[in-house]
Amino acid sequence: MNFNDTYRHKGLRKKLVATIQEKGIKDKKVLSAIGALPRHFFLEKAFEEWAYQDKAFPIGNEQTISQPFTVAYQTELLQIKKRDKVLEVGTGSGYQAAILALLGARVYTIERQEALYHKTNGLLDKIEVGNIRTFFRDGYKGLPEYAPFDKMIVTAGATDIPKALLKQLKIGGILVIPVGDDASKKMTRITRVDEKKFQKEEFDNFRFVPFLKGVNRK
Ligand code: SAH
Repeated sequence: MNFNDTYRHKGLRKKLVATIQEKGIKDKKVLSAIGALPRHFFLEKAFEEWAYQDKAFPIGNEQTISQPFTVAYQTELLQIKKRDKVLEVGTGSGYQAAILALLGARVYTIERQEALYHKTNGLLDKIEVGNIRTFFRDGYKGLPEYAPFDKMIVTAGATDIPKALLKQLKIGGILVIPVGDDASKKMTRITRVDEKKFQKEEFDNFRFVPFLKGVNRK
């Protein structure tokens, strides 16, 4: 990792912001968070040169850091407000969690891969971006002791929407989750209208690493 943020990195970030704006991201706050956060902090040194390309990259344990466009797309759908209590399932590199924290959210993020959890926890401590708590858990079950949440985001590709997550969503709250039977998942936004009623909206298709049950201790 290289924690030195240079003018060159800043210039590359500006270009990245222009790219994702061209692809359709409109939310100014989301765009400025992408422009502010050094993505190369979240990648191994070997990938530093590519950190500002709009692509996903390996981060170890067969996982990837999401493509910046995907991060921006999901974040835009979440309509984050300052102080929102947000649950993220799939910490991965910590990049998405850091974007949420930069927008003023109080972030609770869960990872099922133990090694990745430890690595990212250490990284987030070091770079000190906002309010983020990390958990080594199976995100399928959510985080009942901290529920309810204003917003939830799943950053792995699901085949169904976990009931536990719906249960832990505030009334008026929003869950953004890529879901579907095929490799390509439909970005789905669920809004909790009242105790029993959930409204569903569907957006574009994306590819994600799989949402898996249970934890992996390694
Ligand atoms: N938000 C991440 C994306 C990482 S890829 C980032 O910005 O880098 C998705 C992550 O979801 C992987 O690290 C994977 O291990 C994790 N994951 C998959 N199923 C999970 C589950 N049931 N609970 C918690 N994390 C899970």
